[in-house]
Amino acid sequence: MTRGSPERIPLDAAGTDHVLRAVANRGWRCTGCGGDRARVGEVLDLRLLFPQGGSDAYLVALCCCNATCSQPRDDIRLGKHEFAADAGTAAGGAPG
Ligand SMILES: [Zn+2]
Repeated sequence: MTRGSPERIPLDAAGTDHVLRAVANRGWRCTGCGGDRARVGEVLDLRLLFPQGGSDAYLVALCCCNATCSQPRDDIRLGKHEFAADAGTAAGGAPG
């Protein structure tokens, strides 16, 4: 184990979709072009670095979908409940 390095959390397709919804719910906008569409990069668990860091303990790397964006790389912090695909609605959820 490497001290001081946050743990990277793998996301499957469903998890990625869940993150994108959470990002949209937060009202995220690209700082470079103002767009609201992004691809999800890595998700880092910050609890190793900030054990007392509150509920927004996960850092999600985003990349703007705009090919001409001047500043496509961004990130957002989310709580576990906002991106954990298995947190609640996995069974019996509505399609879409
Ligand atoms: Zn952009």
